[in-house]
Amino acid sequence: MRLSCQLFTTLREDPADAEVRSHALLARAGFLHKLAAGIYVYGPMLKRVLAKIEAIIREEHASAGYQELLMPAIQPRELWEESGRWERYTSDGILFHMADRKGSEICLGPTHEEVVTDFVRRRIQSHKQLPIHLFQVQTKFRDEIRPRFGLMRGREFIMKDAYSFDASSEAMAESYATMRGVYERIFSRCGLRFTAVQADSGAIGGAASEEFMVDAETGEDAIAVCHATGYAANLERAVSRIPTPPETPDKVDMHKESTPGAKSCDDLVALFPNLPLERMLKTVLYKAQWADKDGVVAVLCRGDREVNEVKLINHLDALHLELADEKTVAETSGAAPGFAGPVGLGEDIRLLADASVEGVHGFLCGANETDVHLLDVWFGRDLEQPETLDLGMVQEGDSTLEGDGTLEITRGIEVGHIFQLGTKYSESMEAYFTDENQARQPLWMGCYGLGVSRTAAAAVEQGHDENGMIWPLPIAPYSVALLQLKPGDEAQDSLAESIHEKLEAAGIDVLWDDRPKLSPGARFKDADLVGLPLRIVVGRDAPDGRVEWSLRSGGDSEVVDAEEAIARAVAACEEKES
Ligand code: ATP
Ligand code: MG
Repeated sequence: MRLSCQLFTTLREDPADAEVRSHALLARAGFLHKLAAGIYVYGPMLKRVLAKIEAIIREEHASAGYQELLMPAIQPRELWEESGRWERYTSDGILFHMADRKGSEICLGPTHEEVVTDFVRRRIQSHKQLPIHLFQVQTKFRDEIRPRFGLMRGREFIMKDAYSFDASSEAMAESYATMRGVYERIFSRCGLRFTAVQADSGAIGGAASEEFMVDAETGEDAIAVCHATGYAANLERAVSRIPTPPETPDKVDMHKESTPGAKSCDDLVALFPNLPLERMLKTVLYKAQWADKDGVVAVLCRGDREVNEVKLINHLDALHLELADEKTVAETSGAAPGFAGPVGLGEDIRLLADASVEGVHGFLCGANETDVHLLDVWFGRDLEQPETLDLGMVQEGDSTLEGDGTLEITRGIEVGHIFQLGTKYSESMEAYFTDENQARQPLWMGCYGLGVSRTAAAAVEQGHDENGMIWPLPIAPYSVALLQLKPGDEAQDSLAESIHEKLEAAGIDVLWDDRPKLSPGARFKDADLVGLPLRIVVGRDAPDGRVEWSLRSGGDSEVVDAEEAIARAVAACEEKES
């Protein structure tokens, strides 16, 4: 493809709203054009990347026996009422919904469990028709609270979603295991470094679930990993062995301490230099909301640990959870923020404790009185130990639960999420089949999402340098950048043309920068920005049939015969295929 025939423009500056490199570079290279918050035009170069990712996805799904279909983006409210998700998704604000001209409510699909369940329930009668494996590549719509990072968190984005329907929970687990393998192959074939982690199931619901995380410092998700044991989990649900509590002090009476202005653990450490942080317990107040009520929940947690709000909301089975505001803190504890404590907290407040408080005695905690704390507080003597369970955040350096390894916290970008849904949707939506004994049974379902557009952004987040993007060969918009330094020069024209022709004949996609009147510096700058993995430069050695060969990922360039450069490109592309 000749670049001179294409719409190709680059920006000198990063867009003002670009917080991560992938967003800035994709926008500067013209891959991405912002239309509104979280809504983008995918330019021709990006479309090629997406097409390559989708091709890999289609091949791998087909080999696993998945059939492709296409479900509508517009979905009727009634289906979402059947599954019971309309209320939750509208109260969350994530759902784009509207009324049509007849007044019927419809939404733009944020996901397709309801639609696929409806499709399947109308076709399935017997266990003999199972399993069923379906997938689609579709645009999804989510009115995200914070659309950001360009393609990473869009309000309109491309997802591959697959669904399995089985006759038993064992068969569902098998479908799930197969899909796990499919995901591993897809991301490996895309040329990405990734980690599969245990995940929280969130609003989609269901039991087992794993996320596929592209390793990247800038990722929104924190992950706890242990290299010794292979344990890996999203921090949202990671578990660890909590480090032993500090030594127990002599038993003296609980008493008040004046702590003016000491709202945080740091302030308290300064006031009580001899008291270990582990013996200071904080009381974190939350406002929780259920379908039929709201209330305040207090969580007691060791000073050196943090509360994990995902574990908390799951335990409470609440719809929504947020830190209590100043007014609520004042109403519930009678004090300014920072001084709430478990002793004498209002009756109507549900008090829970994180497992980190286990075995901590003679501790310091808020006194429910501004500028006052209580010291030498003992469970069993000064208050009953509240219901205690794991509600804490794992920390760097914690031991694994079994104590056989150490956890490290890294970051990643979630590009895929696979779930065993069980019978959640089939029961609520009455998707049944008859088994061998003519008994009516709910279908066992799995669902498997993969962010296609987010994967493209994640590849850039993982592959870039100060000059631009560095695409992995399998998903690069073109494999080869053919730079002709002086279009119009006869020797260069004919050599570049023949290389272009031979590469295309070998089935290699090549972008020939033949734009007239451009300095070599500007041409190299654009090539670095766009980041095609293999590079052939036709310049002053053209009369000898020689070119410069280099890789965008680094290393020195070499002057070689044009034929040798073509052979190297062919070899690199063949290796990618294997
Ligand atoms: P997140 O926690 O990042 O919001 P999610 O748990 O809502 O993701 P799923 O509902 O499991 O995501 O969707 C499947 C996949 O779709 C995700 O793994 C991710 O790759 C992609 N995805 C989800 N939301 C977005 C978005 N707003 N923009 C781009 N891709 C997205
Ligand atoms: Mg989400």
